[in-house]
Amino acid sequence: MQSHTKASRKKLGPKILVCATCKRTQIKSYRSQTQCLICSPPRIEAWPEIEDPQLGVWVWFSLPLSGAWSKNRMHARTEEGGVIVRKEARDILDAIAWSAKLSLGQIKLERRKVWLEIIVQKTSPTADAVNVVDVVCDGVKRGIGVDDRYFSLLRLDWQLVERDPRIYIAIGQE
Ligand SMILES: [Zn+2]
Repeated sequence: MQSHTKASRKKLGPKILVCATCKRTQIKSYRSQTQCLICSPPRIEAWPEIEDPQLGVWVWFSLPLSGAWSKNRMHARTEEGGVIVRKEARDILDAIAWSAKLSLGQIKLERRKVWLEIIVQKTSPTADAVNVVDVVCDGVKRGIGVDDRYFSLLRLDWQLVERDPRIYIAIGQE
């Protein structure tokens, strides 16, 4: 499996760019690219137009939050060098999946854009709220039967609490 991945990557070939301005080498983002990403001037003239969703479905639930929700704590290495999902991470994924399923009840989501809203409570300002996104999306995907390629984040926010932090997860669809 490992060698297969390496082989396919080699076949695609690294599209190397030598920057016309600074001579830095970089993987190309697009075929006709001549400057590296640092030398390319940023485009700031137009934000993409995208409408706020009119959500017909909106359900939410909350679960107790711990450090095990972080994407950095999800995986463990086996003695053979493989990577597995930790037991505590699997329990969390199951809890999210089950809660998502329960909160939707009879509602069946369709295979189109699904909105998520996540509010992370944390007991320390140094805790990293964005690290939970992978775990939440993975768990919700399992619970609702719609792949996370359809997911869109409506909001990811956090607030400080003194104790018993929870995570609030809302799922919506137009
Ligand atoms: Zn450059």
